[in-house]
Amino acid sequence: MKKIYLTEPKRLEIREEPIPEPNDFEVLVKIAFCGICTLEQRLFDGERKIYYPIVPGHEASAVVVSVGKAVKTSVSVGDHVVLDLVNRCHVCPACLSGNSNLCENRFKKGQRVLGGFSQYMVVNPEQVQKIPSDFPLEHAAFTEPLSCCIRSLRKVKASLGDTILISGAGTMGLLHVKAALAMGVRVIVSDIDAVRLEDAKRMGADEVVDARNPEQFYETIMTITHGHGVDSCIITTVAVSAVESAVKVLAPAGILNIYTSYGNKPSLPVDMNTIHRNEFVITGSEGRTESDFYTAVRALSNRRVVVDDLVTRIYPMGQAQEAVEAALSGSTYRVLLDMEA
Ligand SMILES: [Zn+2]
Ligand SMILES: [Zn+2]
Repeated sequence: MKKIYLTEPKRLEIREEPIPEPNDFEVLVKIAFCGICTLEQRLFDGERKIYYPIVPGHEASAVVVSVGKAVKTSVSVGDHVVLDLVNRCHVCPACLSGNSNLCENRFKKGQRVLGGFSQYMVVNPEQVQKIPSDFPLEHAAFTEPLSCCIRSLRKVKASLGDTILISGAGTMGLLHVKAALAMGVRVIVSDIDAVRLEDAKRMGADEVVDARNPEQFYETIMTITHGHGVDSCIITTVAVSAVESAVKVLAPAGILNIYTSYGNKPSLPVDMNTIHRNEFVITGSEGRTESDFYTAVRALSNRRVVVDDLVTRIYPMGQAQEAVEAALSGSTYRVLLDMEA
């Protein structure tokens, strides 16, 4: 079988290896599709480093090949599944307190990290969730990013009747839009790119706002919300000005969620009295728990969230280098690798 290694920044290498052997407590799967997420792009770029060589990929759909004798699971051979490829130790304080997305041991060396850019993979039973056999496997690869959006929307306590501003209309911004709409939220999307705003509108956003002119941005959102402001704002773009603008349109007791991560550690551009007087809550959102992932599996399986218009292109795994470069170009939504082709 073939496996794609990142051996140093900007260098992907396809290696031939034997199909791994699962033990009695593991499940062997054949990967179908794997998405190229921001994490893979940053690893490729060298902006983020875990270790080398590493097999990237954490947004994978698959088919079950074999199930260990001692495994307790509802999946059987031939089932279509999605993989939750984050490590959770289940014993650290973060795991025990229900924040397993922040597991202290999730990136420790010596354990399986990521790995979806591989034709076969051995995983633990809790990492495998079944999806309907007629659900497209390429769309199933969106389970992981959707689960991160679900966590993010839970962090801002999104609920029916709320108005939420999603700042940034890239893949993750738009996936937030879809999930928020499915939850009964009124969604405003802001971006500086007119084409992306049009796409957001087409995908169901209630309102779209051009973020290029801060004053106009403020006026428009205040008009839309009848002078009240938005209940919460989720930042999915790395532009610091987006945070500045968002705080100005937050309603009292509003929640600001920094969903994106930054390469350059900027400071929060907010004066502290504003936070004090308005009881603003500022949070981040990182990854997902098992529960967020399970919610995403069901939301996709039930077709509450439809992702087909977020797939820009599918590359055969042999063209991984081109695929990652295309993903990095900034003009795409999700780029996927077909691991069988
Ligand atoms: Zn991802
Ligand atoms: Zn843990």
